[in-house]
Amino acid sequence: MAKSNGDPEAGSWLSRSREKLSRIDLAPQAETQGRVVHVADGIASVSGLPDVRLNELLRFETGQTGLALTLDADGIGTVLLDDAKGIEAGTRVSGLGEVVHVPVGPQLLGRVVDPLGRPLDGGEPIAGESTQPIERPAPAIIDRALVEQPVETGVLVVDALFALGRGQRELIVGDRATGKTSLALDVIVNQKNSDMICVYVAVGQRTTAVERVIEAVRKLGAPERCIFVVASAASPAGLQWIAPAAGMTMAEYFRDRGQHALIVIDDLSKHAATHRELALLNREPPGREAYPGDIFYLHAHLLERAAHLSPELGGGSLSALPIVETDAGNLSAYIPTNLISITDGQIVLDTQLFAANHRPAVDVGLSVSRVGGKTQKPALRDVSGRLRLDYAQFLELEMFTRFGGISDKRVKYRISRGERIRALLTQPRFATLRMIDQVALLAALAEGVMDELPVEVVAGLRAAIARHLDATQPDLVSAISKSGEIEEDDRKKLAKAVRRLVVQLSDESTEPGND
Ligand code: ATP
Ligand code: MG
Repeated sequence: MAKSNGDPEAGSWLSRSREKLSRIDLAPQAETQGRVVHVADGIASVSGLPDVRLNELLRFETGQTGLALTLDADGIGTVLLDDAKGIEAGTRVSGLGEVVHVPVGPQLLGRVVDPLGRPLDGGEPIAGESTQPIERPAPAIIDRALVEQPVETGVLVVDALFALGRGQRELIVGDRATGKTSLALDVIVNQKNSDMICVYVAVGQRTTAVERVIEAVRKLGAPERCIFVVASAASPAGLQWIAPAAGMTMAEYFRDRGQHALIVIDDLSKHAATHRELALLNREPPGREAYPGDIFYLHAHLLERAAHLSPELGGGSLSALPIVETDAGNLSAYIPTNLISITDGQIVLDTQLFAANHRPAVDVGLSVSRVGGKTQKPALRDVSGRLRLDYAQFLELEMFTRFGGISDKRVKYRISRGERIRALLTQPRFATLRMIDQVALLAALAEGVMDELPVEVVAGLRAAIARHLDATQPDLVSAISKSGEIEEDDRKKLAKAVRRLVVQLSDESTEPGND
């Protein structure tokens, strides 16, 4: 009896508890409002809100938004996406139940926006075609195609020696003020005559530097095909943190519609520093160089989103030119090595070359492009075949012969050829070359047209070549530009055309006979 009496009692107690529990589950009204416990350095620690998920957007009663970066028993580490004005201990916070989205679509073209897609150019607010989350999965391997179309940068040293392909990720790496931004900017400006859409993401840059980039593109490039995503050094850390991902999402819109886009991220060392700052403030355990352990994943995932999609998915592409700053040329620091291993090659800029006015200061020994070589137009490949070897030999010989007189004729010849190569590869900013101009100059170099020229004249040749070819060889120009191929005959013709230009230039110069 006692047993049978006890059982129903126990059952009812259990069932009551179950009912209670299920009521709690069904109605998770627990707390829809949390409170700020502490706010400093762009981070707010929030208590309450047990239902908030990682990376969820939170709204503060003062109007700002934040991102749930860490969740633990003590509360939510929230990174602010606006300034902290008005937020203090006790400010009410609610979860929005969604992750950060940005507007995407052609409406963004020509605009300067912050990483949330809010205009910074004083224009109308942007109603994109839709909104997309800033974190999106990278295309699967099966969805990708080989990289087979070139990105024409117009920078001779890159196009000839380190050709880039659409869908490739190429790191630009160098110390402070070695022309990293300028190189990327030249690539953007050179897309004036292509169908590429460019997204320039500024992370932690000086406002004046960003303004200069935007001005240059507006003046010399195709701003109507560019998007500028700006989180400058003065922006809240949270905005700097999401900027690369937001820019990727904006660029992916075009990739996914069969178009071709290029994203420049200037730069990922600032981004890594911001990530470290936020992680340390949130008391995440520091790893190597005090960066949190997930920094590699963060950058790898970000750059995986660059891709050349398969024809079934429209065949669009997204190429990436991330920039990273080194300290005293130290390529083996944590973030640069990470990025070197993540990307498909790197263009290394060297302080000494830069100081010696060999600009762009590309270190040809350390730079490499692992996938783009195949995309190089046959015409250019033809004429640049020996270039790397000749140049490398020259650099070595130059070092050995620096202190002594050179007597050997062949060594002398190699050095003089090398000096002309260097003069050709030295290229001022905003003086990009078309493929056909590059082919003509390199063909002339190979034919020995420049061997007798003073080195200074080579720069003049580079500046005048485009106009000269258009005026004297219009048929050849259009034929080679179209086919991308060159016959032995054409090569001779181009070299001859350059020779005529040399004569013309030396006639113009006041010092006849000065060769
Ligand atoms: P930071 O580390 O400050 O971002 P950076 O590496 O991006 O610098 P830039 O700002 O691109 O370097 O260039 C530094 C300076 O060098 C600029 O003032 C620019 O005018 C000059 N410069 C860069 N490239 C060239 C070039 N090819 N020819 C002439 N001048 C150049
Ligand atoms: Mg820069």
